[in-house]
Amino acid sequence: MYESFSMQDSNNEGITSLKVEKDQAFQANIADSIADALIATDLDYRILLWNAAAERLYGWTEKDVLGKDVHLILSTTFPDANNEEWQDHLRTRGYWQGEVNQQCKDGRQVSVLTSVSYIKDKTGTSIGTVASNRDITEWKRAQLHLQENDRSEEAEQRKDEFISVASHELRTPVTALKGYTQLLQRAFERQGMQKHAAILARMDGQLDRLTKLITDLLDTSKMQMGKVAYIKAPFDFNSWVADMITNLQTASPHTITLTGTASRKVMGDKDRLEQVLINLITNAIKFSPKAERVDIKIVSEQDTVTVHVRDYGIGIPKEHHHKIFDRFFRASYANNNFPGMGIGLYISHEIVQAHNGNIWVKSTPKRGSTFFVSLPFAQD
Ligand code: ADP
Repeated sequence: MYESFSMQDSNNEGITSLKVEKDQAFQANIADSIADALIATDLDYRILLWNAAAERLYGWTEKDVLGKDVHLILSTTFPDANNEEWQDHLRTRGYWQGEVNQQCKDGRQVSVLTSVSYIKDKTGTSIGTVASNRDITEWKRAQLHLQENDRSEEAEQRKDEFISVASHELRTPVTALKGYTQLLQRAFERQGMQKHAAILARMDGQLDRLTKLITDLLDTSKMQMGKVAYIKAPFDFNSWVADMITNLQTASPHTITLTGTASRKVMGDKDRLEQVLINLITNAIKFSPKAERVDIKIVSEQDTVTVHVRDYGIGIPKEHHHKIFDRFFRASYANNNFPGMGIGLYISHEIVQAHNGNIWVKSTPKRGSTFFVSLPFAQD
């Protein structure tokens, strides 16, 4: 079939048959050396040339397809152009380039970038077409994958923006409500209406919970967008933990014990680190409703201090250990029985990481959990 092309050249007088054979072999070599599938047809799209790359791509051998309609063999469809459009383009401009979908011998669908142009004879009359086809199936798949990633990243970003705006908007009325509640509480107290004052004190407590939820939500979106600023300074770790425990103890039915000391000051953002310890201790209390105590231990090592927060509660199954620091993760046992949004540990993890520290858990179901936070000491 290469002959049909070399024949045109061989019309030249003075070219020996040896030269003709050499030309044919040379052209065959070129066609087979091309990485793209090369398919030549007559004007009725009957196949005249089918190179080695076409055999590799479509699975049909040259012998299988010679003389057959290329579009029937490959079940070609045109996703971006209709039949008339591409044929018109080919007729008027002499070439067409675009994407087509084709079927291989084994039924596999491939996306192909094709460049078709007319083959002309010496007088300039079109005598057939030649198409160079490149398999872009993998490239398309990768593109699609990237687009999907972009879309899910975009959706995540929109979610964060929404959380950020919503929590900002929620904060203002909650702050106002808190102000009015405290005002009323004091007014009732002044008039000796203690029962009413006590109800308002409970309302105030609930408003504090709501404020914490809103702040946590705002924090997650800030952290996700990398917008948290940490104000770090050396501080006395022992008195800091002790004060925090005294505060938490006033509202806790559990006895919170403290042992151990830090041998040096710690470098960090006290307010942010307080969020971490409060999250861990309130979780320890929340997830151990039948226990009576939560134990805190401070252990000093060479360069770091580690806080252990131990509870004797429901524990965490091993398969959840690597997920509990993910944003919005809550184990199924937590969903219906314990309040929460699944963001406390995510926030804690982010804060500890920003201090070049570590946070991890050891836990056995029904026996309880210990959460560990290690932080570097301040340089002397
Ligand atoms: P929340 O407590 O609001 O659900 P967290 O991010 O603090 O969110 O915790 C994520 C999940 O990790 C919880 O829903 C729970 O399944 C598990 N978890 C955390 N702390 C404990 C604990 N001390 N005991 C048992 N499970 C815990």
